[in-house]
Amino acid sequence: MRNAKEKNMMQKTDKTAPRAAKAGEGAIKREDRTAGMSKADRAAMEKYAADYAGYLGIAKTERRAYAEAVRRIEKRGFRELSTFKTLKPGDKVWRGFHGKTLFATVIGRRPLEAGVNVVGGHTDAPRIDLKPVPVAEKGGIAYFDTHYYGGIKKFHWVAHPLAIYGRICRKDGTGADVSIGDAAGDPVFMISDILPHFGKDQASKPMSEGIAAENMDILAATTPDPGADGDAKDKVKAHVLRLLAEKYGVAEDDLVSAELEAVPAGMPRDCGLDRSMIAGYGHDDRVCAYAGLKALADLDGVPARTAVVLLCDKEEIGSVGASGMDSTFFENSIAELVVRRNPKAGDIAVRRALEASRMLSADVCAAADPMFPDADSTGNMARMNAGPCMIKYTGAGGKSGASDARAEFIASLRGVFDSAGVAWQAGELGRCEKGGGGTIAKFMARYGMDVVDMGTPLLNMHAPWELASKFDCWMTYRAYAAFLGAKER
Ligand code: MN
Ligand code: MN
Repeated sequence: MRNAKEKNMMQKTDKTAPRAAKAGEGAIKREDRTAGMSKADRAAMEKYAADYAGYLGIAKTERRAYAEAVRRIEKRGFRELSTFKTLKPGDKVWRGFHGKTLFATVIGRRPLEAGVNVVGGHTDAPRIDLKPVPVAEKGGIAYFDTHYYGGIKKFHWVAHPLAIYGRICRKDGTGADVSIGDAAGDPVFMISDILPHFGKDQASKPMSEGIAAENMDILAATTPDPGADGDAKDKVKAHVLRLLAEKYGVAEDDLVSAELEAVPAGMPRDCGLDRSMIAGYGHDDRVCAYAGLKALADLDGVPARTAVVLLCDKEEIGSVGASGMDSTFFENSIAELVVRRNPKAGDIAVRRALEASRMLSADVCAAADPMFPDADSTGNMARMNAGPCMIKYTGAGGKSGASDARAEFIASLRGVFDSAGVAWQAGELGRCEKGGGGTIAKFMARYGMDVVDMGTPLLNMHAPWELASKFDCWMTYRAYAAFLGAKER
């Protein structure tokens, strides 16, 4: 026995006499769970799906996801941490970082050293970023030069309407928020592709090479600046710079200190004749981020353990950077809570709180796609409409890079979800040695806390438009709500 927590768990197990299962009892089901839904449940699901789609359409970048999250939880009574000198059970608090990463919490009755329940997801998504020196003219067309962000199939992003969002920061500390492509009457942007008639060379290349990253420049304008001198060079580029100056009050060198992101233009839509799915950009991982945040805001009464939702940036590029999970933001936030609950508590109290915590790493997983049966691992892959999927380990090639949750933790979660009537499934990301992936789970496991991945199954993950079933979106929320408000066992 390594620690008190494990000892308790073993003693509990020993006290429970084993009981033989009846025939069929405890059989694993991985099937559609929507069939038996009540009318009230269907209405609740549809309402949830519509609210979520509204959030998703606004939260197209990590900055926008953050701002919209803060706006929503402030309406539900959460206040920024620095406004609290001390904290007491029931207090609703948020703490932000760089306008991108968000920590939100409802303080529980038990001391923080007993651990917190965390739902942690991310709000960045694969996209096309503009380079630091982005505006260039080639062959009479002005382009935004780009560098893609996260794991994309490059051919998905050409000949597809794009919107540009972000922030341009001036030297004097002021800035301009950019948002072009989704408001009524806005223009959109596009990356061009070769027509099939001349695309024979392209078509014979492997798909990963059909579109070169450095050819993914976005068309910005095709007409010269009307005010330019007759023999001036790069008059189309000058036109782009003039329009940016007029609209945002910025010069070309201000773009060096900008974060501009091209994302698919358009709002989330119902998908399918039965309207069972939502097609939208950035389900990964805003579907889990939204579910966690809403579950936290909807918590009934004061939870036993402090409930936390953490929404990170930079997951799609390895959780690096100050606003990624591999920074000290989370532990600093826990330390800020500890000192406000007990000013005399030292560093050891923070370490105890971290180690005794439990976390659902709230990230999406791949749903089995019958069109691509090769990726499935003989029934271990999540299927749509069976609820969020718990993934014990991620990683690739022999679980490499996985945090691999322990069985005891998973067993306790089964109890939490089953007693709350949550439809959920267990599985893995895909067939052995076919590929793999990672989430923020391993960064949290570093503190010694129990962590397991659990999120919404998606089709088309990392494509400009991803698909999630409304049922799975709603059940993800129900699962997180059950976990955050879980009674102590
Ligand atoms: Mn993700
Ligand atoms: Mn992802």
